[in-house]
Amino acid sequence: MDKSQKHLLAARLFVVAVLAVAGWFMVNRTGVADSDEAGIVLALPERVAGWTGHDLVNCPDELCARVCVDVPPGTPCPACGKPLQYMNHAEKRMLPADTGLVRKYYLRDGAAPVHASIVLSGNDRSSIHRPQVCMTAAGYEIVNDTLLRIPLGGGREPLDVMVLDMNRTGADGRTETIYYAYWFVGKGRETASHVQRMVWMATDRVLRGVSHRWAYIALSAPRDPGSDAHLQQIANFAAALHPLLLVPEDAEAGPTPLTEKDETP
Ligand SMILES: [Zn+2]
Repeated sequence: MDKSQKHLLAARLFVVAVLAVAGWFMVNRTGVADSDEAGIVLALPERVAGWTGHDLVNCPDELCARVCVDVPPGTPCPACGKPLQYMNHAEKRMLPADTGLVRKYYLRDGAAPVHASIVLSGNDRSSIHRPQVCMTAAGYEIVNDTLLRIPLGGGREPLDVMVLDMNRTGADGRTETIYYAYWFVGKGRETASHVQRMVWMATDRVLRGVSHRWAYIALSAPRDPGSDAHLQQIANFAAALHPLLLVPEDAEAGPTPLTEKDETP
């Protein structure tokens, strides 16, 4: 992949990344008593099955807004020198300061690149809009939604993932077709349902007096508008990614990294 290809890819993924976090932000604002427990680690693996992960980082300066790939967070921006971060300036502005976020895109021969992100709530957990609302606001038309039930094997419950097929027509008249797939992970809990997540948050708070940190995992990539092949891609990718994210149940596993290692001074 040459430099200009990387630039184009990063620019497109940037748009998707903004959406990912917009969705999270809208579902995750309401202050409650909290615990520090999360259901996953805030890190994306280097490899997922046959896919290779590449860091995708942003300049925090709104006017610069450079997007870079394959450099670690904290690297000085090649344009303005500010330390690059997973969060872009819009996310930084929208999200509570202790929100964790990581993102990578994944490449594999013969497949469209998959953008993956994890957002992990900080102490400010809250609000009640569905991600779908934010997508529509950002100019995407949701043309189909599918609840994908993905077998995980090993006696585990299947993983439910919500898949939105989306179209957006640009100023040049070209229509971009992508999918956006997501699920939520809490301590010992997983769901693709925003409503289920809200019910669990409420019952945990009322009946058990706890509010764990919830994570929002999103995958996105271009899709062929004439085919459902992306559903198989999502199933394969999510099934391989899933065990790499979970916090080991045994207490010997050590502390969960809860915040992005952000090199901002
Ligand atoms: Zn910069």
